[in-house]
Amino acid sequence: MTHRRIPPVSFAIDGAAGNEEDDGNHDDDSSDDAEDDRDADTDGNGDSSRENGRSERAKREPMTVRPLRDRRYVVETEGGTYVIALDSGTCSCPDHEIRGERCKHLRRVAIEVTEGRLPAPDQRVGVCAVCGVETFVPFAASGPRLCERHGFDRGDAVYDRETGKLLVVTRVTERRADEYRTDEERSIDAYPTNAAYGAHEPVVEAVYAESLGPAHGIDDARRYGFPASRLVSVDIGREE
Ligand SMILES: [Zn+2]
Ligand SMILES: [Zn+2]
Repeated sequence: MTHRRIPPVSFAIDGAAGNEEDDGNHDDDSSDDAEDDRDADTDGNGDSSRENGRSERAKREPMTVRPLRDRRYVVETEGGTYVIALDSGTCSCPDHEIRGERCKHLRRVAIEVTEGRLPAPDQRVGVCAVCGVETFVPFAASGPRLCERHGFDRGDAVYDRETGKLLVVTRVTERRADEYRTDEERSIDAYPTNAAYGAHEPVVEAVYAESLGPAHGIDDARRYGFPASRLVSVDIGREE
């Protein structure tokens, strides 16, 4: 060690342990232990307070969580970086790997997924074709997507921005306006009335409300395709 410059104090402590690389995680783990024990002693209530301590730290400790491309997540903390698989309930930290505990990292990922800040394991981050906002989409989805605000559900009443006519949505396709072909073998974006809307938007199929009747449901009526942003939900239309 004499040939090396003396490192800053915080590193000198790590250095004293001999091998920073290997012991980094262990040190972090030990401090966790101490904190767990403190929680337990304070409450004198064994396992449940230990559990509470872990839940609390999962919520409040600074951690950066990012989804990986293989449905797992990476969590960066001051003590180390760990990989979490929510499907199998595993984490690469010592708390989980050695003691088999449901660690604070697993808990944190579960919390962020539940609160909608992270995609679930069967989702990935996509971008809304209308507004560009990030949205969670099914993992296997390949076509253009819409966010919650610009998406539609089957049965939604919508206005056509071009004609003001009322329609009912039958489905949101996964095909772009420049891919989707009408009965006339034209792409949706080739129609002059669609010039103002994005060719990259998914096509939404809808039927005219006036074509519906007691014996004529949305599956019997003639369907038309529209670029997504040409249709506006009746409810949103009233707000605007
Ligand atoms: Zn962990
Ligand atoms: Zn959007």
